[in-house]
Amino acid sequence: MKGLSGKVAIVTGAARGIGRATALRLTEEGCKVVINYFKSEKQAKELQEIIGEKRSLLFKADVGKVEECKSLVEATVKHFGGVDILVNNAGFFEPKSLAEVTEEDWDRMMDVNVKGALFCSKFSVPYMKRGGSIVNITSIAGLTSFPHRLTYTPTKTSMVGLTKALAIELAPNIRVNAIAPGVIETEMTYWLRADEEASKRRLDLTPLKRFGKPEEIASVVAFLASDEASYITGEVIVVDGGFLFLRPY
Ligand code: NAP
Repeated sequence: MKGLSGKVAIVTGAARGIGRATALRLTEEGCKVVINYFKSEKQAKELQEIIGEKRSLLFKADVGKVEECKSLVEATVKHFGGVDILVNNAGFFEPKSLAEVTEEDWDRMMDVNVKGALFCSKFSVPYMKRGGSIVNITSIAGLTSFPHRLTYTPTKTSMVGLTKALAIELAPNIRVNAIAPGVIETEMTYWLRADEEASKRRLDLTPLKRFGKPEEIASVVAFLASDEASYITGEVIVVDGGFLFLRPY
């Protein structure tokens, strides 16, 4: 895609799932990538072996901690000389009902799923000297909700708000967009895909009749990061096989 070759991209949570597919796709498009990981060191190292050390940097950081977001960006700049693309992908999901949710649950999920994206953006922007693109991974759960999403949905709705607020603040040189995936085949959705009945209910409401692949999010990230999307900012692209528009309530 136009404008990606030679660019430096930070992908948070790149060792697994959507982040991994994104790191691979961006390197296929000619980017140099920073593979951020937190717990999945082995997978991160395996990914770096595939991409090659010349075109990647491994960096362990808990994006729920502001100082670690800063270190991630500083290491990127030291190694590659700048930042062009930031993919705020890192996130986790835990089902929580109102009865069981605690203050710690709320704080941790907001820290990792939202605060990390804000501070990775804040620290990266001064180094986006040739313009830039930020892509945030939200969720259809941030546009609607499902049972037991007392913490997850607010984090993902916040990512939509953060995308729009940053898009205004950073225009015209930096574009900021979000992707709202439906059910994608990663470890995060294993519990749903392992439940035959729940999967069937979901697929019955999904026009494309299947779950998505991480690569089908990565291709949209690459598009939004590239010059092919040069007139798109503040937008949320839903990638869910048609589930959301068909949803009957
Ligand atoms: P996944 O396979 O569970 O991967 C989650 C990634 O986030 C891992 O790479 C993990 O890194 C990273 N992560 C979690 N906590 C972190 C922290 N504190 N610091 C740094 N990295 C951290 O899930 P996924 O499906 O690829 O999810 C990626 C993003 O897509 C998430 O934001 C998720 O909410 C969103 N999403 C997914 C779906 C779906 O259906 N899969 C749908 C909508 C939205 P380590 O393993 O190294 O700790």
